[in-house]
Amino acid sequence: MIRYNSGETEESHRPIQKLKGVVPSVEWPIIEPLIERVNALKSEKNAVVLAHNYQTPEIYHCVADFVGDSLQLAVQAQERDADIIVQAGVHFMAETSKLLCPEKTVLIPSLEAGCSLASSITGEDVRKLKNKYPNVPVVTYVNTSADVKAESDICCTSANAITVVESLGVERVILLPDEFLSQNVAAMTDVEIIAWKGRCEVHERFTAGELRAVRGSTPDLSILAHPECSPEVLEEADFAGSTSALIEYVREKRPEKVMMVTECSMSDNVSAEIGEGVEFIRPCNLCPHMKTINLQNIIESLELMRYEVTIPEDIATEARGAVQRMVDLGLKGQNFEGGTMKDIVVEDSLSLSSMETLSQ
Ligand code: SF4
Repeated sequence: MIRYNSGETEESHRPIQKLKGVVPSVEWPIIEPLIERVNALKSEKNAVVLAHNYQTPEIYHCVADFVGDSLQLAVQAQERDADIIVQAGVHFMAETSKLLCPEKTVLIPSLEAGCSLASSITGEDVRKLKNKYPNVPVVTYVNTSADVKAESDICCTSANAITVVESLGVERVILLPDEFLSQNVAAMTDVEIIAWKGRCEVHERFTAGELRAVRGSTPDLSILAHPECSPEVLEEADFAGSTSALIEYVREKRPEKVMMVTECSMSDNVSAEIGEGVEFIRPCNLCPHMKTINLQNIIESLELMRYEVTIPEDIATEARGAVQRMVDLGLKGQNFEGGTMKDIVVEDSLSLSSMETLSQ
């Protein structure tokens, strides 16, 4: 029999032990049977769970076969020898897995797992942009739907955005759809960037003033920010990079006190891995889409084989090409340090329709 006593048990090897310090032990008797059920279903069905860095600790540490940022998950989806992929992320990530693994069944446990960036732009918007800027290549952040990727020359993630933009060897690119990521990339390169007015609803909420206030009240604090935050927030940070780069920074440098300016669960997940010695000051902005995935709906997803992700073949062929061109570049990333802010053009649906009206 397993005894629960303030988180101390006789079986220190059990997966749930990884949640010590981040999930109260009083919740363990409810969570542990769910973890066991997910792991049993994975073996039975030859399935894997891919979890994004923003997932809750019980998914990230106890049932995920691979964790990472969008780029790492896309590559892992290809390399995993499994019949079924359960994407513990959001819908665009599941679509990306399906694009790279068309022969595998890809499931997303919640239909609510969307993304404010992905819903900010459509394939039709990209076609209009290409009319407005003929011969300017389109680089699309992976946080987009397959029909937007299908209209693009190549994809990028926050880890490789600067590398991808510069790899094209041109003077000007359209970089979609995150306005802040585009401004932050523009600061790091001589390539002229045309942006789209999309925002991540989690990262846009952080302000430079908030960071200054926390720093003022917390001596010796290291502030790490994700490039979906505004340029002003990045200027206040000590380091900026993709979720994986932020995790790597904490692993290597082990700052005494750290604030990760990104989704809430990242701090919990890194804290559970790092253990004692690093104090996490937690700014708490949750991604409501990511949080619609939980252990219970992962179980239902595997039991009922729902919700299967499908992409029309004509869109899939084009979108796959854009993702694959990014993957083929390799996993080289570049952090956002020492840039110079510039004014860039930011397009939106309104500016494109007014252009159409003028040309009529
Ligand atoms: S954190 Fe932002 S970019 Fe990531 S899934 Fe949520 S809304 Fe989209």
